[in-house]
Amino acid sequence: MNRPREEHIRHLQNILGPEGWLAADEDKAPYLQEWRDKFHGETPLVMRPASTAEVAQILAYCNDQRLAVVPQGGNTGLCGGAMPKNGELLLSLGRMKRIRDIDTDNFTITAEAGCILADIHRVAAERQRLFPLHIGAEGSCQIGGNLSTNAGGTAVLRYGNMRELTLGLEVVLANGEIWDGLRGLRKDNTGYDLKQLFIGAEGTLGIITAAVLKLFPLPRRRAVALAGLKTCEQAVELLSRSKERAGDRLTGFELMNRLSLELVGRHLPECAAPLPLSHPWYVLIELSDTDEAPLDEKLQHILERAWEADLIEDAHVASSLTQADRLWRMRHAISEAQKHEGGSIKHDISVPVSQVAAFIARADHAVAAMIPGFRSIAFGHVGDGNIHYNPLQPRNMAKAEFLARWAEVAETVHDIAASLGGSISAEHGLGQLKNRDLPRYKSAVEIAMMRKLKTALDPHGILNPGKVLP
Ligand SMILES: Cc1cc2nc3c(=O)[nH]c(=O)nc-3n(C[C@H](O)[C@H](O)[C@H](O)COP(=O)(O)OP(=O)(O)OC[C@H]3O[C@@H](n4cnc5c(N)ncnc54)[C@H](O)[C@@H]3O)c2cc1C
Repeated sequence: MNRPREEHIRHLQNILGPEGWLAADEDKAPYLQEWRDKFHGETPLVMRPASTAEVAQILAYCNDQRLAVVPQGGNTGLCGGAMPKNGELLLSLGRMKRIRDIDTDNFTITAEAGCILADIHRVAAERQRLFPLHIGAEGSCQIGGNLSTNAGGTAVLRYGNMRELTLGLEVVLANGEIWDGLRGLRKDNTGYDLKQLFIGAEGTLGIITAAVLKLFPLPRRRAVALAGLKTCEQAVELLSRSKERAGDRLTGFELMNRLSLELVGRHLPECAAPLPLSHPWYVLIELSDTDEAPLDEKLQHILERAWEADLIEDAHVASSLTQADRLWRMRHAISEAQKHEGGSIKHDISVPVSQVAAFIARADHAVAAMIPGFRSIAFGHVGDGNIHYNPLQPRNMAKAEFLARWAEVAETVHDIAASLGGSISAEHGLGQLKNRDLPRYKSAVEIAMMRKLKTALDPHGILNPGKVLP
């Protein structure tokens, strides 16, 4: 790979036009620092193309000149995937934010990669449609980033993750060729499902420039409750019962341990829980329906039955949409609240839903043996078996000393997830945070297939080098 030189930069600036690039340090700075402040990047040029044709010209040139390119969406990824580690060129998709089409009868929206997720929600809702991907970063993450990380979030339980929400893609390949796969078909058995190669590839196989996404009818009713429980096992049982009783009206089911909510109350009091935090575990449950009939009674009924069966100790049903939104703000505030409490070692694991309680118990036990006095934070999308398990530093330990144990703790926690049939990355991807761990958890055959795909689609390795593959 070549380091970009003066003449390369000038050529790329000419393709992009005066509005399409940033080179001053102060202009580049926001693109080179990520949300957790764990990774920092360096680049000689932030490229901000306005069209697929410009992306194609840039890649054709970079491929020819052997210049590495790191794509970036909203820069909310949590694995350092969008950070140029070694002075690569940065390709930001943020100016490509056109909604190209919305087809309400086909229940699809065709959007460019730089569209902000929350804008897709708004545009769809204006046409009585729902785009159901909901994540804490939805005000700034972009569709291209959501696709490239196969984002999940809080409604996967009902609607699936980005893989399941996508019908077609437009992709610029490493050599600058454009693949127009913007099909809005629910059935298409004409060979390999190529779009799935680029979804979750974290920008290592091609640059996604637009997508056809599935829409759903806009729900007319929502009911949301927070319930307190004694054990994590009870949460899993309550999940099964809620599924049985509510069917696909069960839209969200989030698990939170007490400490995660205490930190929200301590550091972001405007988002604090509406209940006294006297239970070890909490679940946030949402039902939604397109039917006009109120859902509160249904949710109340599920909770009463659970209380009679000794599954829950207490519950608070939101009596208005404002209250419901407040409960969700509390849930989404957990990540931010942790930042104020010192260092935490983050994991984004998944296990079969039936193994969630065993995972948390075994991980707590193992981490306590390594770092006595650590504080356990566990929360997440229990309906998908996806737990964000984030051990927090002991009160009497320096942050740097605690974070220096990251690799050792992560290996222990990941080994436990793997031993329960789980994954070391449920929804955030690998980026540069976990790619080196891949050989420990994937077979040589699987990694060799991934390498062959990479070589076939990006033979010179210009796309996001040093990410995903070890
Ligand atoms: C507070 C908070 C809460 C979060 N909650 C969730 C959650 O619930 N569920 C979840 O899944 N994630 C969550 N995330 C993680 C993050 O928001 C998602 O991974 C999101 O999908 C990233 O989108 P982005 O536009 O910010 O992508 P970026 O961070 O910019 O990029 C992510 C990866 O995609 C690549 N990429 C970006 N755009 C393109 C493109 N157009 N073509 C090819 N490659 C591209 C980048 O190179 C990088 O490897 C959360 C993050 C934060 C900060």
